[in-house]
Amino acid sequence: MSNKPVVAGVDLGGTAINYTILNSEEQFLIEGLCEHPARSKEGPEICLGQIADGLAIAVERAGVALADVTVVGLDTPGPASAAGVLSARGSTNFVHADWAGFDMREGLARKLGKPVTYLNDGNAGALWGHFTIFGGQNEATSISAVIGTGLGGGVIVGGEVVKGRSGFGGELGHVLIPYQDIAGFTGVQPRCNCGRTGDLESVCSLTAIANTLLPYFLRQFPSHELAAMEIAQAAKKVRGLAERGDPMCKEIFRVQAHALGLFFDEMINTFDPDALIVGGGAIETDKAFQDWFVSEIRAGMPGQREEQAGIPIHIMPNGDTAGSRGAAIEALKLARHSGLA
Ligand SMILES: [Zn+2]
Repeated sequence: MSNKPVVAGVDLGGTAINYTILNSEEQFLIEGLCEHPARSKEGPEICLGQIADGLAIAVERAGVALADVTVVGLDTPGPASAAGVLSARGSTNFVHADWAGFDMREGLARKLGKPVTYLNDGNAGALWGHFTIFGGQNEATSISAVIGTGLGGGVIVGGEVVKGRSGFGGELGHVLIPYQDIAGFTGVQPRCNCGRTGDLESVCSLTAIANTLLPYFLRQFPSHELAAMEIAQAAKKVRGLAERGDPMCKEIFRVQAHALGLFFDEMINTFDPDALIVGGGAIETDKAFQDWFVSEIRAGMPGQREEQAGIPIHIMPNGDTAGSRGAAIEALKLARHSGLA
């Protein structure tokens, strides 16, 4: 066992906790997933015990001692404040009554007797994507969009996560885009679960495929094989079919890429970032499809200055571990600021 200081990343989801360990040389000591049951339905007390139990397993797997963990980085789904206090109105992932208004960061710090940092899962994923390009010590700015059931991600400015006043910084999915400008996508009112019409998530997410894109394009391709299927099931088939060249499913992904292009153009004019990053299940595909998707993102952008058109678009790696790794990177920052790493 080494006695060098390390930090831990703890990604708490509704059903599972995933761990990683990161050392001062910015090396992750756990490859892939290291999971433990979250038992979040049984409330915070049981769940915090689960986090502590799983952490003991994780440090053993990483070959370090628990005492060498100087800071623990926690990330969870929201809604939660920037400091890690869950919304008093509850959260779909934390349904037990005791979770309402619960201070996750403080509760875990007390349970473990160690300093704890907090990020929501979207921002943790964004910090991981940023790290894969710029490392852990930088002043770079990046915008990450992660396409899953919804549209998550985050904004890193000057190397720091933009958490915002109430923890809602980087809620990129609910930024309105001029979707009417997307070619071949007319007469549509894309609605989002948040109540907005025409935000990024309403056009660019698995939910958008099921609610809006697939019904829209099936009217143009009425004899398509997906027309006979239940819509939620059919939506999950779109990516695979698009990757194999199915014309309708490629159109659905082209529209999503153009929506991202419009959104990234807004971000380019707001932040002039060093990098744009795309991640999520939607583009966990072969390289050729990823390259095509990125080229369609560019094609969907309005005309830009030469300096703007040169901003690189990256694909984010390692989807499953993004949350725990991003949380660990945030913990490493605190460790460095406090002289613990
Ligand atoms: Zn929305």
